[in-house]
Amino acid sequence: MGQVADVVIIGGGIIGLSIAYHLGLRKPGKILLLEKGQLGEGSTSRCVGGIRTQFSTEINILFSLESVKVFDRFEEEFGVDPEFRKIGYLFLAATESEVEVFKENIELQKRFHIPVQYLTPDEIGEQWPYLKMDDILGGTFCPSDGYAGPNEVLSGFVRGAKRVGVTFNEGEEVRDILVEGGRVTGVRTDGGEISSPVVVNAGGPYASFVGELAGIKIPVKPLRRQVFVTAPFHLTERSVPLTIDFHRGWYFRREVDGFLLSGPLDREPGLNTSIDYEAMVEASENATYRVPAFENARIARGWAGLYEISPDNHAILGKVPGLEGLILANGFSGHGFQHSPAVGRVISEVIVDGEATTINISSLSIERFEKGELIREPMTAFKE
Ligand SMILES: Cc1cc2nc3c(=O)[nH]c(=O)nc-3n(C[C@H](O)[C@H](O)[C@H](O)COP(=O)(O)OP(=O)(O)OC[C@H]3O[C@@H](n4cnc5c(N)ncnc54)[C@H](O)[C@@H]3O)c2cc1C
Repeated sequence: MGQVADVVIIGGGIIGLSIAYHLGLRKPGKILLLEKGQLGEGSTSRCVGGIRTQFSTEINILFSLESVKVFDRFEEEFGVDPEFRKIGYLFLAATESEVEVFKENIELQKRFHIPVQYLTPDEIGEQWPYLKMDDILGGTFCPSDGYAGPNEVLSGFVRGAKRVGVTFNEGEEVRDILVEGGRVTGVRTDGGEISSPVVVNAGGPYASFVGELAGIKIPVKPLRRQVFVTAPFHLTERSVPLTIDFHRGWYFRREVDGFLLSGPLDREPGLNTSIDYEAMVEASENATYRVPAFENARIARGWAGLYEISPDNHAILGKVPGLEGLILANGFSGHGFQHSPAVGRVISEVIVDGEATTINISSLSIERFEKGELIREPMTAFKE
Protein backbone atom coordinates (compact mmCIF):
# COMPACT_ATOMS: atom_id res chain seq x y z
CA MET A 1 0.00 0.00 0.00
CA GLY A 2 1.26 3.50 -0.84
CA GLN A 3 1.63 6.37 1.60
CA VAL A 4 -1.34 8.20 3.07
CA ALA A 5 -1.64 11.87 4.03
CA ASP A 6 -4.49 14.14 5.09
CA VAL A 7 -3.11 17.10 3.12
CA VAL A 8 -0.41 17.14 0.42
CA ILE A 9 1.16 20.53 -0.36
CA ILE A 10 2.93 20.79 -3.72
CA GLY A 11 5.77 23.32 -3.55
CA GLY A 12 8.22 24.26 -0.82
CA GLY A 13 8.46 28.00 -1.38
CA ILE A 14 7.37 30.69 1.08
CA ILE A 15 3.69 30.03 0.26
CA GLY A 16 3.77 26.24 0.67
CA LEU A 17 5.68 26.60 3.93
CA SER A 18 3.39 29.23 5.40
CA ILE A 19 0.39 27.05 4.53
CA ALA A 20 2.11 24.01 6.08
CA TYR A 21 2.82 25.90 9.31
CA HIS A 22 -0.65 27.40 9.66
CA LEU A 23 -2.29 24.06 8.88
CA GLY A 24 -0.06 22.29 11.40
CA LEU A 25 -1.19 24.76 14.07
CA ARG A 26 -4.75 23.61 13.43
CA LYS A 27 -3.66 19.90 13.54
CA PRO A 28 -5.61 18.40 10.62
CA GLY A 29 -3.64 15.08 10.68
CA LYS A 30 -0.66 14.21 8.47
CA ILE A 31 0.57 17.13 6.38
CA LEU A 32 3.09 16.24 3.69
CA LEU A 33 4.92 18.94 1.74
CA LEU A 34 6.56 17.84 -1.52
CA GLU A 35 9.25 19.99 -3.14
CA LYS A 36 10.85 18.93 -6.42
CA GLY A 37 14.17 20.59 -5.58
CA GLN A 38 15.19 22.23 -2.31
CA LEU A 39 12.96 24.28 -0.02
CA GLY A 40 12.94 27.91 -1.19
CA GLU A 41 14.83 27.33 -4.43
CA GLY A 42 12.10 28.85 -6.63
CA SER A 43 10.99 32.48 -6.71
CA THR A 44 11.36 32.77 -2.96
CA SER A 45 15.17 32.71 -3.09
CA ARG A 46 15.14 35.39 -5.86
CA CYS A 47 12.83 37.76 -4.04
CA VAL A 48 13.98 41.17 -2.76
CA GLY A 49 11.80 41.05 0.36
CA GLY A 50 9.65 44.17 -0.10
CA ILE A 51 6.73 44.60 2.32
CA ARG A 52 4.25 47.44 1.85
CA THR A 53 0.75 48.51 2.67
CA GLN A 54 0.67 51.00 -0.22
CA PHE A 55 -1.54 48.93 -2.52
CA SER A 56 -4.31 50.20 -4.75
CA THR A 57 -6.96 47.54 -4.05
CA GLU A 58 -8.72 46.78 -0.80
CA ILE A 59 -8.03 43.04 -1.00
CA ASN A 60 -4.25 43.51 -1.33
CA ILE A 61 -4.28 46.00 1.54
CA LEU A 62 -6.11 43.48 3.73
CA PHE A 63 -3.51 40.82 2.93
CA SER A 64 -0.72 43.29 3.75
CA LEU A 65 -2.20 44.42 7.07
CA GLU A 66 -2.76 40.83 8.21
CA SER A 67 0.75 39.81 7.13
CA VAL A 68 2.51 42.80 8.71
CA LYS A 69 1.05 41.76 12.08
CA VAL A 70 2.91 38.45 11.68
CA PHE A 71 6.16 40.07 10.47
CA ASP A 72 6.02 42.39 13.52
CA ARG A 73 5.88 39.47 15.97
CA PHE A 74 7.85 37.03 13.80
CA GLU A 75 10.81 36.48 16.13
CA GLU A 76 8.51 35.75 19.06
CA GLU A 77 6.45 33.24 17.09
CA PHE A 78 9.20 31.56 15.06
CA GLY A 79 12.45 32.20 16.96
CA VAL A 80 14.07 33.77 13.87
CA ASP A 81 14.74 37.50 13.34
CA PRO A 82 13.06 38.30 9.98
CA GLU A 83 15.25 41.44 9.65
CA PHE A 84 12.19 43.57 8.92
CA ARG A 85 13.59 47.05 8.19
CA LYS A 86 10.93 49.74 8.10
CA ILE A 87 12.71 52.16 5.79
CA GLY A 88 9.52 53.28 4.06
CA TYR A 89 8.38 53.10 0.44
CA LEU A 90 8.52 56.28 -1.66
CA PHE A 91 6.47 56.24 -4.88
CA LEU A 92 7.37 58.97 -7.42
CA ALA A 93 4.83 60.26 -9.98
CA ALA A 94 5.98 61.80 -13.27
CA THR A 95 2.64 62.45 -15.00
CA GLU A 96 -0.63 64.14 -14.01
CA SER A 97 -2.51 60.86 -14.33
CA GLU A 98 -0.02 59.16 -12.00
CA VAL A 99 -0.54 61.97 -9.47
CA GLU A 100 -4.28 61.48 -9.71
CA VAL A 101 -4.02 57.71 -9.19
CA PHE A 102 -1.59 58.15 -6.27
CA LYS A 103 -4.07 60.53 -4.61
CA GLU A 104 -6.91 58.04 -5.09
CA ASN A 105 -4.71 55.30 -3.65
CA ILE A 106 -3.95 57.40 -0.58
CA GLU A 107 -7.65 57.94 0.02
CA LEU A 108 -8.20 54.19 -0.01
CA GLN A 109 -5.13 53.49 2.16
CA LYS A 110 -6.15 56.09 4.73
CA ARG A 111 -9.48 54.32 5.18
CA PHE A 112 -7.35 51.51 6.64
CA HIS A 113 -5.39 53.96 8.85
CA ILE A 114 -2.19 53.46 6.89
CA PRO A 115 0.24 56.29 7.77
CA VAL A 116 0.83 57.32 4.15
CA GLN A 117 1.32 60.92 3.07
CA TYR A 118 1.29 62.83 -0.21
CA LEU A 119 4.46 64.86 -0.82
CA THR A 120 5.07 67.76 -3.20
CA PRO A 121 8.21 67.83 -5.38
CA ASP A 122 9.77 70.40 -2.99
CA GLU A 123 9.14 68.19 0.02
CA ILE A 124 10.63 65.18 -1.77
CA GLY A 125 13.68 67.12 -2.98
CA GLU A 126 14.31 68.47 0.50
CA GLN A 127 14.18 65.07 2.20
CA TRP A 128 16.05 63.09 -0.46
CA PRO A 129 18.34 65.63 -2.19
CA TYR A 130 20.15 63.01 -4.27
CA LEU A 131 17.02 62.49 -6.45
CA LYS A 132 16.75 64.26 -9.82
CA MET A 133 13.43 66.07 -9.50
CA ASP A 134 12.97 67.89 -12.90
CA ASP A 135 10.14 65.66 -14.06
CA ILE A 136 8.64 64.62 -10.71
CA LEU A 137 5.18 66.02 -9.98
CA GLY A 138 4.64 64.46 -6.55
CA GLY A 139 4.86 61.27 -4.56
CA THR A 140 3.58 59.21 -1.68
CA PHE A 141 5.54 57.98 1.32
CA CYS A 142 4.64 55.43 3.97
CA PRO A 143 7.30 55.11 6.70
CA SER A 144 6.08 51.74 8.00
CA ASP A 145 6.69 49.95 4.67
CA GLY A 146 10.06 48.27 4.16
CA TYR A 147 11.65 44.92 3.52
CA ALA A 148 12.62 41.70 5.30
CA GLY A 149 14.90 38.77 4.57
CA PRO A 150 13.24 36.08 2.41
CA ASN A 151 15.69 33.43 3.68
CA GLU A 152 15.09 34.41 7.28
CA VAL A 153 11.31 34.32 6.89
CA LEU A 154 11.50 31.03 5.00
CA SER A 155 13.65 29.44 7.71
CA GLY A 156 11.20 30.73 10.36
CA PHE A 157 8.31 29.01 8.58
CA VAL A 158 10.41 25.82 8.18
CA ARG A 159 11.18 25.81 11.92
CA GLY A 160 7.55 26.49 12.76
CA ALA A 161 6.27 23.82 10.39
CA LYS A 162 8.67 21.23 11.85
CA ARG A 163 7.54 22.17 15.34
CA VAL A 164 3.90 21.50 14.45
CA GLY A 165 4.70 18.13 12.88
CA VAL A 166 4.75 18.77 9.11
CA THR A 167 6.70 16.24 7.00
CA PHE A 168 8.87 17.64 4.16
CA ASN A 169 10.14 15.63 1.23
CA GLU A 170 12.71 17.52 -0.83
CA GLY A 171 13.73 16.23 -4.25
CA GLU A 172 10.27 14.71 -4.79
CA GLU A 173 8.41 16.05 -7.81
CA VAL A 174 4.68 15.57 -8.16
CA ARG A 175 4.17 14.01 -11.61
CA ASP A 176 0.41 13.53 -11.45
CA ILE A 177 -2.59 14.55 -9.38
CA LEU A 178 -5.02 11.68 -8.98
CA VAL A 179 -8.69 12.45 -9.60
CA GLU A 180 -11.71 10.17 -9.29
CA GLY A 181 -15.33 11.13 -9.81
CA GLY A 182 -14.79 14.88 -9.54
CA ARG A 183 -12.55 14.77 -6.51
CA VAL A 184 -8.85 14.61 -5.79
CA THR A 185 -7.64 11.35 -4.30
CA GLY A 186 -3.90 11.91 -4.11
CA VAL A 187 -0.70 12.46 -6.07
CA ARG A 188 1.90 10.38 -7.84
CA THR A 189 5.63 10.95 -7.59
CA ASP A 190 8.61 8.83 -8.65
CA GLY A 191 8.34 7.31 -5.17
CA GLY A 192 4.83 6.00 -5.86
CA GLU A 193 1.27 7.06 -5.09
CA ILE A 194 0.32 9.05 -2.02
CA SER A 195 -3.38 9.10 -1.25
CA SER A 196 -4.79 12.31 0.16
CA PRO A 197 -8.24 13.93 0.03
CA VAL A 198 -6.71 17.42 -0.11
CA VAL A 199 -3.95 18.62 -2.43
CA VAL A 200 -2.67 22.22 -2.38
CA ASN A 201 -1.12 23.81 -5.45
CA ALA A 202 1.66 26.07 -4.13
CA GLY A 203 3.77 25.73 -7.28
CA GLY A 204 4.67 29.44 -7.64
CA PRO A 205 5.60 30.20 -11.28
CA TYR A 206 4.90 26.53 -12.11
CA ALA A 207 1.29 26.79 -10.90
CA SER A 208 -0.24 26.27 -14.34
CA PHE A 209 1.87 23.13 -14.92
CA VAL A 210 0.75 21.77 -11.55
CA GLY A 211 -2.86 22.62 -12.46
CA GLU A 212 -2.54 20.66 -15.72
CA LEU A 213 -1.67 17.56 -13.68
CA ALA A 214 -5.27 17.71 -12.42
CA GLY A 215 -6.70 18.81 -15.79
CA ILE A 216 -7.29 22.37 -14.54
CA LYS A 217 -6.33 25.56 -16.44
CA ILE A 218 -4.76 28.05 -14.04
CA PRO A 219 -4.00 31.34 -15.80
CA VAL A 220 -0.61 32.02 -14.19
CA LYS A 221 2.39 32.90 -16.33
CA PRO A 222 6.04 32.91 -15.28
CA LEU A 223 7.65 36.27 -16.07
CA ARG A 224 11.33 37.03 -15.51
CA ARG A 225 12.50 40.02 -13.45
CA GLN A 226 16.22 40.84 -13.28
CA VAL A 227 17.85 42.58 -10.33
CA PHE A 228 21.33 44.07 -9.89
CA VAL A 229 23.41 45.08 -6.88
CA THR A 230 26.19 47.68 -6.80
CA ALA A 231 29.55 47.33 -5.09
CA PRO A 232 29.72 49.25 -1.75
CA PHE A 233 28.65 52.83 -2.48
CA HIS A 234 28.14 55.89 -0.29
CA LEU A 235 25.11 57.96 -1.33
CA THR A 236 23.99 59.72 1.84
CA GLU A 237 24.06 59.52 5.62
CA ARG A 238 20.25 59.68 5.63
CA SER A 239 17.87 56.77 5.58
CA VAL A 240 17.04 55.78 1.97
CA PRO A 241 13.51 54.49 1.39
CA LEU A 242 12.70 51.86 -1.18
CA THR A 243 12.12 54.34 -3.99
CA ILE A 244 9.92 53.61 -6.96
CA ASP A 245 10.23 55.59 -10.17
CA PHE A 246 6.75 54.51 -11.16
CA HIS A 247 6.84 55.94 -14.67
CA ARG A 248 9.99 54.05 -15.57
CA GLY A 249 8.93 50.90 -13.71
CA TRP A 250 12.21 51.08 -11.80
CA TYR A 251 13.07 50.95 -8.09
CA PHE A 252 16.07 50.87 -5.78
CA ARG A 253 16.92 50.39 -2.13
CA ARG A 254 19.97 49.84 0.02
CA GLU A 255 21.49 46.35 0.02
CA VAL A 256 24.16 45.93 2.70
CA ASP A 257 26.86 48.55 1.77
CA GLY A 258 25.63 49.02 -1.78
CA PHE A 259 22.32 49.44 -3.58
CA LEU A 260 19.89 47.06 -5.17
CA LEU A 261 18.67 48.29 -8.58
CA SER A 262 15.72 46.70 -10.30
CA GLY A 263 16.28 45.50 -13.84
CA PRO A 264 13.61 45.02 -16.50
CA LEU A 265 10.60 42.77 -16.35
CA ASP A 266 10.26 40.53 -19.43
CA ARG A 267 7.31 41.15 -21.74
CA GLU A 268 6.92 37.53 -22.78
CA PRO A 269 6.46 34.64 -20.35
CA GLY A 270 9.17 32.00 -20.01
CA LEU A 271 11.25 30.03 -17.56
CA ASN A 272 14.64 31.62 -18.29
CA THR A 273 16.33 32.79 -15.06
CA SER A 274 19.65 34.03 -16.42
CA ILE A 275 20.70 37.70 -16.44
CA ASP A 276 21.80 39.60 -19.51
CA TYR A 277 23.98 42.57 -20.34
CA GLU A 278 21.17 44.66 -21.91
CA ALA A 279 19.18 44.38 -18.69
CA MET A 280 22.17 45.56 -16.68
CA VAL A 281 22.58 48.57 -19.00
CA GLU A 282 18.88 49.40 -18.62
CA ALA A 283 19.11 49.17 -14.82
CA SER A 284 22.17 51.48 -14.84
CA GLU A 285 20.48 54.00 -17.16
CA ASN A 286 17.39 54.16 -14.97
CA ALA A 287 19.60 54.50 -11.90
CA THR A 288 21.74 57.36 -13.19
CA TYR A 289 18.68 59.11 -14.61
CA ARG A 290 16.95 59.34 -11.23
CA VAL A 291 20.03 59.39 -8.97
CA PRO A 292 22.86 61.07 -10.91
CA ALA A 293 25.39 60.17 -8.16
CA PHE A 294 25.00 56.54 -9.22
CA GLU A 295 27.19 57.47 -12.22
CA ASN A 296 30.08 56.46 -9.95
CA ALA A 297 28.56 53.20 -8.71
CA ARG A 298 29.70 49.89 -10.14
CA ILE A 299 27.40 46.93 -10.60
CA ALA A 300 28.91 43.94 -8.82
CA ARG A 301 26.35 41.19 -9.29
CA GLY A 302 22.82 40.36 -10.32
CA TRP A 303 20.24 37.61 -10.51
CA ALA A 304 16.87 36.89 -12.03
CA GLY A 305 13.73 35.15 -10.87
CA LEU A 306 10.19 34.49 -12.03
CA TYR A 307 7.05 36.33 -11.07
CA GLU A 308 3.83 34.30 -11.13
CA ILE A 309 1.54 36.64 -13.02
CA SER A 310 -2.25 36.30 -13.11
CA PRO A 311 -4.40 38.16 -15.67
CA ASP A 312 -5.42 40.86 -13.14
CA ASN A 313 -2.22 40.85 -11.06
CA HIS A 314 -4.04 39.42 -8.06
CA ALA A 315 -3.74 36.06 -6.35
CA ILE A 316 -5.89 33.05 -7.19
CA LEU A 317 -6.94 31.47 -3.92
CA GLY A 318 -9.17 28.72 -2.62
CA LYS A 319 -11.26 25.87 -3.96
CA VAL A 320 -11.78 24.85 -7.58
CA PRO A 321 -15.43 24.50 -8.63
CA GLY A 322 -16.09 20.98 -9.94
CA LEU A 323 -12.96 19.44 -8.45
CA GLU A 324 -13.28 18.80 -4.76
CA GLY A 325 -10.10 18.68 -2.70
CA LEU A 326 -7.83 20.79 -4.93
CA ILE A 327 -6.87 24.06 -3.24
CA LEU A 328 -5.10 26.91 -5.07
CA ALA A 329 -2.57 29.35 -3.64
CA ASN A 330 -1.26 30.88 -6.86
CA GLY A 331 -0.77 33.96 -9.02
CA PHE A 332 0.68 36.37 -6.46
CA SER A 333 2.04 38.52 -9.28
CA GLY A 334 5.17 39.59 -7.45
CA HIS A 335 3.64 40.01 -3.96
CA GLY A 336 3.77 36.45 -2.65
CA PHE A 337 6.53 37.02 -0.12
CA GLN A 338 4.87 39.90 1.69
CA HIS A 339 1.44 38.25 1.65
CA SER A 340 2.65 34.76 2.63
CA PRO A 341 1.70 34.94 6.34
CA ALA A 342 -1.92 35.85 5.60
CA VAL A 343 -2.13 33.41 2.68
CA GLY A 344 -1.02 30.56 4.97
CA ARG A 345 -3.67 31.49 7.44
CA VAL A 346 -6.60 31.84 5.04
CA ILE A 347 -5.74 28.66 3.14
CA SER A 348 -5.57 26.72 6.42
CA GLU A 349 -9.04 28.09 7.20
CA VAL A 350 -10.36 26.96 3.80
CA ILE A 351 -9.02 23.45 4.46
CA VAL A 352 -10.02 23.10 8.11
CA ASP A 353 -13.20 25.21 8.33
CA GLY A 354 -14.41 25.04 4.73
CA GLU A 355 -13.97 28.78 4.16
CA ALA A 356 -11.60 31.65 4.95
CA THR A 357 -12.73 33.80 7.85
CA THR A 358 -9.75 36.11 8.51
CA ILE A 359 -10.16 37.70 5.06
CA ASN A 360 -13.04 37.18 2.62
CA ILE A 361 -11.26 35.69 -0.40
CA SER A 362 -14.27 35.17 -2.66
CA SER A 363 -13.08 37.90 -5.06
CA LEU A 364 -9.85 35.90 -5.56
CA SER A 365 -11.57 32.71 -6.70
CA ILE A 366 -10.45 31.15 -9.99
CA GLU A 367 -14.07 31.47 -11.17
CA ARG A 368 -13.60 35.20 -11.68
CA PHE A 369 -11.81 34.66 -14.99
CA GLU A 370 -14.63 32.63 -16.50
CA LYS A 371 -17.23 35.02 -15.15
CA GLY A 372 -15.30 38.03 -16.42
CA GLU A 373 -15.08 39.46 -12.90
CA LEU A 374 -11.43 40.43 -12.96
CA ILE A 375 -10.19 42.78 -10.25
CA ARG A 376 -9.63 46.28 -11.59
CA GLU A 377 -6.77 48.51 -10.55
CA PRO A 378 -6.56 52.19 -11.46
CA MET A 379 -3.18 51.68 -13.19
CA THR A 380 -1.02 48.67 -14.01
CA ALA A 381 0.13 47.32 -10.69
CA PHE A 382 3.67 47.94 -9.50
CA LYS A 383 5.73 44.79 -8.95
CA GLU A 384 8.84 44.59 -6.80
C1 LIG B 1 13.23 39.36 -8.66
C2 LIG B 1 12.03 39.16 -7.79
C3 LIG B 1 11.78 40.05 -6.77
C4 LIG B 1 10.66 39.89 -5.97
N1 LIG B 1 10.44 40.78 -4.96
C5 LIG B 1 9.36 40.64 -4.16
C6 LIG B 1 9.12 41.55 -3.10
O1 LIG B 1 9.88 42.51 -2.91
N2 LIG B 1 8.05 41.35 -2.31
C7 LIG B 1 7.18 40.30 -2.51
O2 LIG B 1 6.20 40.17 -1.76
N3 LIG B 1 7.39 39.41 -3.50
C8 LIG B 1 8.44 39.57 -4.34
N4 LIG B 1 8.65 38.68 -5.35
C9 LIG B 1 7.67 37.62 -5.57
C10 LIG B 1 7.90 36.46 -4.63
O3 LIG B 1 9.23 36.01 -4.73
C11 LIG B 1 6.92 35.34 -4.95
O4 LIG B 1 5.61 35.87 -5.01
C12 LIG B 1 6.95 34.24 -3.92
O5 LIG B 1 8.26 33.80 -3.67
C13 LIG B 1 6.09 33.08 -4.38
O6 LIG B 1 6.27 32.02 -3.49
P1 LIG B 1 5.79 30.57 -3.89
O7 LIG B 1 6.04 29.71 -2.71
O8 LIG B 1 4.42 30.67 -4.44
O9 LIG B 1 6.70 30.18 -5.13
P2 LIG B 1 8.16 29.52 -5.18
O10 LIG B 1 9.09 30.09 -4.19
O11 LIG B 1 8.60 29.53 -6.61
O12 LIG B 1 7.87 28.03 -4.73
C14 LIG B 1 7.20 27.10 -5.55
C15 LIG B 1 7.92 25.78 -5.40
O13 LIG B 1 7.16 24.76 -6.05
C16 LIG B 1 8.06 23.79 -6.50
N5 LIG B 1 7.36 22.95 -7.47
C17 LIG B 1 6.83 23.36 -8.66
N6 LIG B 1 6.26 22.31 -9.27
C18 LIG B 1 6.41 21.23 -8.46
C19 LIG B 1 6.03 19.87 -8.56
N7 LIG B 1 5.37 19.39 -9.63
N8 LIG B 1 6.34 19.04 -7.53
C20 LIG B 1 7.01 19.50 -6.43
N9 LIG B 1 7.40 20.78 -6.32
C21 LIG B 1 7.11 21.64 -7.30
C22 LIG B 1 9.20 24.62 -7.07
O14 LIG B 1 10.40 23.89 -7.15
C23 LIG B 1 9.28 25.78 -6.08
O15 LIG B 1 10.28 25.60 -5.09
C24 LIG B 1 9.76 38.81 -6.18
C25 LIG B 1 10.03 37.90 -7.20
C26 LIG B 1 11.15 38.06 -8.00
C27 LIG B 1 11.41 37.08 -9.10
